[in-house]
Amino acid sequence: MSKYARIIVDISQEKLDKTFDYRIPEHLRAQLAVGMQVTVPFGNRRMTGYVIELTDETDFDEEKIKDIFHITKNSVPLESHLIALAAWMRKNYGGTMNHALKTVLPVKQKKKMEEHKRVRLAVHPVEAKNLLAEFVRKHSTARARLLEALLEVEELDWAVITGKLAVSSSVIRALEEQGVLKVIRETQYRNPVGHLSRKDYVRQLNEEQQRVVDTFLSDYESGERKTYLLKGVTGSGKTEVYMELIAHIVAQGKQAIVLIPEIALTYQTVMRFYNRFGDRVSVLNSRMTAGERYDQFLRAKNGEIDIIIGPRSALFTPFLNLGLIIIDEEHEASYKSENVPRYHARETAIARAAMLGAAVVLGSATPSVDSFYKAKSGEYCLLTMEKRVKEQPLPECEVIDLREELRLGNRSILSGRLTELMEQRLRDGQQTMLFLNRRGMSGFVSCRACGYVIKCPHCDVSLSQHGGGEASGRMVCHYCGCEMPRPKTCPSCGSKYISGFKAGTEKVEQIVKQRFPQARVLRMDTDTTRNRESYEQILSAFANHEADILVGTQMIVKGHDFPDVTLVGVLAADLSLYVSDYHAPERTFQLLVQAAGRAGRGRLPGEVVIQTYDPEHYAIVAAKSQDYEAFYEQEIEYRALMYYPPVWNLLVILCASRSEADAAEGARLLKRRVDQWSQGAGLLMQVIGPADAAVAKVNDIYKKVLYLKTQDYADLVKIKDEAEKFIRENRAYKDVAVQFDFNPVNGF
Ligand code: ADP
Ligand code: ZN
Ligand code: ZN
Repeated sequence: MSKYARIIVDISQEKLDKTFDYRIPEHLRAQLAVGMQVTVPFGNRRMTGYVIELTDETDFDEEKIKDIFHITKNSVPLESHLIALAAWMRKNYGGTMNHALKTVLPVKQKKKMEEHKRVRLAVHPVEAKNLLAEFVRKHSTARARLLEALLEVEELDWAVITGKLAVSSSVIRALEEQGVLKVIRETQYRNPVGHLSRKDYVRQLNEEQQRVVDTFLSDYESGERKTYLLKGVTGSGKTEVYMELIAHIVAQGKQAIVLIPEIALTYQTVMRFYNRFGDRVSVLNSRMTAGERYDQFLRAKNGEIDIIIGPRSALFTPFLNLGLIIIDEEHEASYKSENVPRYHARETAIARAAMLGAAVVLGSATPSVDSFYKAKSGEYCLLTMEKRVKEQPLPECEVIDLREELRLGNRSILSGRLTELMEQRLRDGQQTMLFLNRRGMSGFVSCRACGYVIKCPHCDVSLSQHGGGEASGRMVCHYCGCEMPRPKTCPSCGSKYISGFKAGTEKVEQIVKQRFPQARVLRMDTDTTRNRESYEQILSAFANHEADILVGTQMIVKGHDFPDVTLVGVLAADLSLYVSDYHAPERTFQLLVQAAGRAGRGRLPGEVVIQTYDPEHYAIVAAKSQDYEAFYEQEIEYRALMYYPPVWNLLVILCASRSEADAAEGARLLKRRVDQWSQGAGLLMQVIGPADAAVAKVNDIYKKVLYLKTQDYADLVKIKDEAEKFIRENRAYKDVAVQFDFNPVNGF
């Protein structure tokens, strides 16, 4: 039993990131374990902290070392391997150990559990009758009432006794202690899928699916744990393969984590897992209460479930015998955290799997360039499925040049060809989806005379036309929520031709309704889906064919089957090409392929129309022929040329401050330090900046960035460590927050 505990004090002071040693008082030595939360003296305060190591040695002065007060009540002990994972995350992504611990700790505080208590007699009825007589004699009326009732019915709810019978809890407890009563305590976990009913599961895998399963299993059985990239076209039956793999590892007494992007975590998906695995499955999502999340966490730890499905954070489910982590739609940007530590679920899953001897399966129809690069270089094992299960052919794809449309005098957002095909669908009673891949900047307000764009006074972004279209005359900032009326005249030139710029989804909906007055139109975007129900409502209304046309943003292209959709129109495919992020072509290609994948999922073949101002762009050309490899070859050439990931590695250092001068100075000093250090170490490195961040100001906070590129990730980690030390020791960073973002995927 160790004498000392090394503790991370839970303090929001970000710059304090070291451990402190405390003495473990005798009476705690037997119970204290790594991962527990404790209360300790800190300065003249009481603070909580996490035990990250137990030790008999200390570098602190033994005389001055303080005692731990106690183990924090209602705390959630962290598994020690999760602490190791937190340490790995801290090292590879920056931030403090505290940040990292908070990330791997699924719920901060134990929530009171719903406990169901029932009461029975623990003695023979004859003895109970004797006792009853005695209680009556002694005028112990409450005790008498209770025994009388329990001689009549075998069992009573605790709540009935304290309620209807008006017998207090202390009386029940006293009789329990005397051995007269037995209390049966059962905790009721709130099971989020508990109300669903289960069907018997029978399904025969096809040849392609079976081949993938066999490859995985022969590795697994021979003790090999790899990371697999399963590249399978939409509808090739990837989900079915995941379930088959899970069934095998569960049969060996192991557990599985399935990560699915929140937006694809629909009722349909959850049901498929539930139908096969019943209540050995549970779900996590961001709408659950802390209590519900905690319950799932506890169920996982107690071995009551084998499978958890959820978004990024489900990765930290405390399974003790984890055998498999699956990441579906592995290319999704939502797998990268936007909070410190800015971890990527893919890399972190691989790290966790390595610690526990588990395998990892990454699945996608359009893998990230990053993963495909690793698969090609042999770091991941590539598995492919090229046929759709139901043998539906992939849809026909046409590209329409919008410049040509304009030359022909058509200024509408709907090209002649698309209009014609939509008319056909309406006539034939089939459905159409119109997809606008434009987010954030939709409907910005500008002057048609001078081109002036109205920006948020607190953020460096344009304001968007909001609600009720032109008429409402209000503008909103999507970054800080600031709302203001639209000016009547242009603040720059005084012209009165100031208006919301065309094509937001709302505008498209209006245009479609005008052009096809007979059609029933639904719209889905962040405005119409403020809560989860409205999201599911719109999807199911469309699935039930209560509308002919669905207009929407990225949301509508993510994993949902609409068998009657035979036409998908992409309104302006290049809108997502010109954002300032080197992932733009990759995103565009993925979105176009996904959008196309929505067409022809039923019996009828599908058609896709891609409208664009840039029909020769390689992302669009490759999307037209649904040719992933062609896209990949061009893209990786470009990345190599630019020293971008995955060929090299990129670290963005962000300096943020209320004072623009402080932010700039912080970035300048860091650049100098990094240059010195990398020269001293003889590193081959590119440094760009300091520069304004893509959004240079948010909520009145200025952001300056440095971009560092090296071939080896480990070198960037060393630079980060140096930079963190420099920042801690330098007063210039008093009012500057510095953050690190390794291989960012969501712009910066
Ligand atoms: P993906 O995840 O690759 O898009 P899914 O696993 O969702 O593909 O499969 C597409 C459709 O085919 C689903 O409706 C699924 O139930 C069905 N399916 C998958 N595998 C089989 C199979 N072996 N036999 C019959 N139907 C299957
Ligand atoms: Zn703003
Ligand atoms: Zn103007």
